[in-house]
Amino acid sequence: MNDWKKLIRPQVAGFEPYVPGRSMESVRRERGLKRIIKLASNENALGPSAKALRALQATAKNVFRYPDGASSALRLALAHFYKVDSTRVMIGAGSDELIELLGKTFLNTGDSIVVSEHAFVRYQMAAEMMGATPVRVPMRHMTHDLAAMAAAIRADTKIVFIANPNNPTGTYNSAQDLEQFLRQVHALNQRRSTPVLVVVDEAYYEYAKAFAKDYPDTLTLQKQFPFVMVLRTYSKAHALAGLRIGYGFAEPAVIDALDRVRPPFNVSIAAQAAGVASLQDQAHIRRSIQLVRSERKKLTAELDRLGVRYLPSIANFLLLDIAPRRGREVFEALLDRGIITRAMDEYGFPQHLRVTYGLPSENRAFMIALKEVLTS
Ligand code: PMP
Repeated sequence: MNDWKKLIRPQVAGFEPYVPGRSMESVRRERGLKRIIKLASNENALGPSAKALRALQATAKNVFRYPDGASSALRLALAHFYKVDSTRVMIGAGSDELIELLGKTFLNTGDSIVVSEHAFVRYQMAAEMMGATPVRVPMRHMTHDLAAMAAAIRADTKIVFIANPNNPTGTYNSAQDLEQFLRQVHALNQRRSTPVLVVVDEAYYEYAKAFAKDYPDTLTLQKQFPFVMVLRTYSKAHALAGLRIGYGFAEPAVIDALDRVRPPFNVSIAAQAAGVASLQDQAHIRRSIQLVRSERKKLTAELDRLGVRYLPSIANFLLLDIAPRRGREVFEALLDRGIITRAMDEYGFPQHLRVTYGLPSENRAFMIALKEVLTS
């Protein structure tokens, strides 16, 4: 008898797969419902920019060709937009691919990474996949505790991941906090031959920059602290999650290393074209931010009235504290009503629920359903 389990690398044998938000189609099929509202994956309910859609359609006739493996046009567009040299830009199939590439490029058994407890789980998974150890640092006031994270850096630590703002808490570290942390790592790096890479994941950058005055300008900090890598994505404010486009900024030597490991055609023709066009439609980004700004005001006022506590989020989602109810139970009850949210057990929050801001009508339906579920 073949033991198929023996084929599996020991590092991944006990691996817990990532649990994504439920798709609308699967819920529709399973529950036999007509109207489904998805508030589960921090997408932008406004949908993509019309310019991006036009660019996407124009690529259809070219899909028999391989894409430009280097994503040159998109890299140049991002370099120009953010005023950095294009040798400092990396494109991935979502920022998720970049996180995984960081693992594959830099981590081995015997290495460690430093992450915050309750941080976006993919950092930890990228480390575990390579046999590296995630050192998990408790949060402070539900926020990354950067001082404790600096103190947790070990001789075998290669990467520190900071989600700013963090998913699923929505909380953030200020410019002052981050700069102080980077100064500490800088001092440490001067004494080490293998530097520590600090990856700052700014997936919700567009919202965060608009919502928090003291949100860091990490690209500027990078000039002073070259060991910083910044990750961003087209999946949130740009509303292109389905195309899978993420990008990163780092030292050319870091980009060069990641480039060797990435699949040669990792970003599709459609994704590259839409990415360039979407960047040129900043009016759409402003509208997307405005939607969250106004919906946030309405939703938090209603939650206050209902007595439901939530964390102060600068992203396009909220983490609700629904104790003593269980997140999974409320998630299921909302699913029965056609509303997909996200239970947070795997993040260590069994009594929380994460909800993404949708369109005004979707948020209204969510609040009606939530009231019903919580008062029943
Ligand atoms: N980082 C954070 C903090 C996220 O919340 C997400 C999406 N859930 C990602 C990275 C990955 O996004 P994508 O791969 O779509 O760019």
